[in-house]
Amino acid sequence: MMNKKVAQILNEIADLLEVKGEDFKPRAYRKAARKIASMKGDITVYHEEGTLREIEGVGKAIEGKIEEMIETGSIEYLEELKEELPSGLIEVMGVPDIGPKSAKKLYEELEVVDLDTLKEEAESGNIRELKGFGEKTESKILKGIEMLEDISGRHLLDEVIPVAEKLIGYLEPKAERIEKAGSLRRWRETIGDIDILATGDSDELMDAFTLYEDVEEVIVKGETKTSVRLRGGIQADLRVVDEDSFGSALQYFTGAKEHNVPLRQIAIDRGYKLNEYGLFKKKDDEKIAGRVEEEIYQKLGLKWIPPELRENRGEIEAAGQDELPELLGWNEIKGDLQAHSDWSDGHNTVFQVAEEAQNRGYEYIALTDHSQSLTVAGGLSREEMMEREKEIEKVNEELEINVLSGIEVDIKKDGSLDMDPKTLEGLDIVLGAIHSNFRMDEEQQTERIKKAFKTGLIDIFAHPTGRKIGEREGYEFNIMEIIKCAKENDVILEINASPQRLDLDSLNARNAKEQGVLISLGTDAHGLNHLDYMRYGVATARRAWLESKDVVNTRSYDDLIKILRGG
Ligand SMILES: [Zn+2]
Repeated sequence: MMNKKVAQILNEIADLLEVKGEDFKPRAYRKAARKIASMKGDITVYHEEGTLREIEGVGKAIEGKIEEMIETGSIEYLEELKEELPSGLIEVMGVPDIGPKSAKKLYEELEVVDLDTLKEEAESGNIRELKGFGEKTESKILKGIEMLEDISGRHLLDEVIPVAEKLIGYLEPKAERIEKAGSLRRWRETIGDIDILATGDSDELMDAFTLYEDVEEVIVKGETKTSVRLRGGIQADLRVVDEDSFGSALQYFTGAKEHNVPLRQIAIDRGYKLNEYGLFKKKDDEKIAGRVEEEIYQKLGLKWIPPELRENRGEIEAAGQDELPELLGWNEIKGDLQAHSDWSDGHNTVFQVAEEAQNRGYEYIALTDHSQSLTVAGGLSREEMMEREKEIEKVNEELEINVLSGIEVDIKKDGSLDMDPKTLEGLDIVLGAIHSNFRMDEEQQTERIKKAFKTGLIDIFAHPTGRKIGEREGYEFNIMEIIKCAKENDVILEINASPQRLDLDSLNARNAKEQGVLISLGTDAHGLNHLDYMRYGVATARRAWLESKDVVNTRSYDDLIKILRGG
């Protein structure tokens, strides 16, 4: 855990030093950071034992910084660097495609000091005039800024869902009915505010809400709506409504707007009026529904639509024709198909991961450690794979759960795989993934992936687009062509359930399903608690209209093995 944090801080120092124009020092910091991020030992143990200097790249100066970091949680030197430079430059370096060198140039030549000035310069076409930038980079920068703006004020699922559940759990005994609403209920991939709807004694509920232990600030307190800011910065809104409007309020506040607007039109066409208080007859205002959500849909001639589908992507038509999918259930997943052990960059042993998965009621789990070329993640050589195999065999004897011996093999630049075919054929499951050369042009990238599929060695294409929410867009490739190629070569596409990835996203996963491609869910766990991520994968699958049959992890172990052998 600490290794990653320390590496990140050292890299940040390197970035700032580079902006300042230093040449040698940043390289030293980066080298140490790389080593620390990829080594298996815990940095805090080195610190306790006084052996930090034994780590390659850690000299006296860096040793001091690491000690300070571990002991105090921050580094004064870094704070000083931040004060010397415009603080917005760190934001600027957060834009994909802008490293320290570009940031420095933009700062010196165009006086770019933060995202606003960066955007101005990009929009007025000044960046393309700089040496080494060009039109393509300029438009990429604009896209990057857009991505950062999209995510600003929004949070990843793992930052919000546990917080919301704890809060609702606290309010539940005080409410008659309580339910999440908004993007939270729809399981959007990022969430703005926590919206909660309840019925009950308003005074009591609002008091309890404002007195909740994690409330940092009460923004506004009223009889029907109260807003607070929680520790960690997330805003939560509680609305207390009348019992006989709960269903219509829930429908209204769940959204999305894109779903609710056509729904209101259907109401009008039928001589009704729909709002948060209920469904009313236009001619005499008689209320005909409102208490429960199902009733509203029913009176509009529709089947009830699961919140995950309410985005106006065909769900209203499907509900009218009784053709909604039978969505993948929350408890249908029989195993996790991507997890890492401490053989590569995971934090836990094979036994620990397997035991945790067993305790969660899984029938199987795939251990998919990285292949050798991914040195930053402790990738395994053929020999190490063989040794790990022995450990997996032992764990399979000790535990009930079936541990699949797998790999996340790197797809190299030319589309070949980072492990010999014989070793790959001997494994239970092979995930192929791209971790390098993101910048190839669309056509080359598409060819690279197709070539990898055509080896016939890949069972699952992991995190297919490579995007990381709020951090980077995926690599450029023709996704529809790859979906088609997956179908032809029996390659399963992954929904990586890690909240920063959710890759494939719901739109692409739905495209894949429509082309008859199977989907697998994997948490990409590097620690035991990451196995929790599975439900974010299930949510994404549901938003993609997937049914049980579309997802390989719903199969029993025996059936899964049959699919993998056939594929
Ligand atoms: Zn990966």
